[in-house]
Amino acid sequence: MHRFFVDPDAWSADGCVLKGEEAHHLVNVLRLRPGAKILLFDGRGGQWEGEVKSIGRGAVYVALTGERNYVPMPLAVNLLQGLPKGQKLDLIIQKAAELGAAQVVVVACERSVVQLDGEKAKGRLARWERIAKEASKQCGRPVPLAVKGVWSLSQALAMVGSGGLSLVPWEEEGVRGLHEALSDQPAPPRVVNILIGPEGGLTPGEIAQAREAGFLSVSLGPRILRTETAGIAAISMVLYQWGDLGRAPGKERGDG
Ligand code: SAH
Repeated sequence: MHRFFVDPDAWSADGCVLKGEEAHHLVNVLRLRPGAKILLFDGRGGQWEGEVKSIGRGAVYVALTGERNYVPMPLAVNLLQGLPKGQKLDLIIQKAAELGAAQVVVVACERSVVQLDGEKAKGRLARWERIAKEASKQCGRPVPLAVKGVWSLSQALAMVGSGGLSLVPWEEEGVRGLHEALSDQPAPPRVVNILIGPEGGLTPGEIAQAREAGFLSVSLGPRILRTETAGIAAISMVLYQWGDLGRAPGKERGDG
C-alpha cells in the first residue's frame, strides 16, 4: 500500500486532505485514482488506512477507513555525522532512515572538506529532510528520520546531553571494540549516540572533546571503513543488539 505523510492539522473527523508534494506524488507520479487504498502517517506515530475519495486541483480527499497500532521504536539511535564531501550524506540519511535511526545530526568537523554556512546550509538541510521523508515513506516507518544541522561539534555534544550510551568510533582505538562496549552495558539503554568523523577522521582534539562529553571511543574492527560505511555499520550493530533490526514485526524488543 502506498504511504503518505499528512499534516495533522489537515485531519477532519472522518478524513483528510493531501496537498502539495504528497498530492502531486499520489496523482501525477503514482497515478492513483478514487477508490485507491493508501496508508497515512501523521509523522508522530499515528497510522491510518484510507481510501481516495476524490481528486481536486492540487488536493486529494481521503476517507479514513481504519487506524493501525503504532509500535514505538524501542531505542533512539542518534547519528552525529561529520559533514562529508559531495552527495555522501544523501546516502547516509537514506540508509539511516531505513535501518531505523531516530535522527542524524550533521556536524561541521575540523577535517570536513566542505564548509556549509548560512543559506547554503539551509538549502542542504531542506534537501536532506526531503530525502529522510522519502526514505521513511518508502520503508514504512511512521515517524520519519529527523535531520538536524549543520552544527559545530560543541553544539552537537550539548544537544545530546548526558543520558544514554554515547560512542565515538575511532580507528585508533586499540582496546575497546563496539562489541564489548555493547555487551558491557548492564541494561539496554533507551538512547545511543554515535559520532562518526568525516573522510579525514576526527582530530585528537575532537576525540578528547567527545570523551569529555562522556563518549566512549570504540573500534569497529581491523579495517578502516569509509565514513558512510562506518555510520551505517554502527547503526546496524546497535539496532541489532537492542532495537528491532533482525526481528520479526511485532517481536521487537521492549524493555528487556
Ligand atoms: N582518515 C582516516 C579514516 C577516517 S574514516 C584514516 O584514513 O585513517 C571516517 C570515520 O569512520 C572515522 O572518523 C571513524 O569515526 C569511523 N571509522 C572508520 N573505520 C573505523 C574503525 N575501524 N574503527 C572505528 N571507527 C572507524
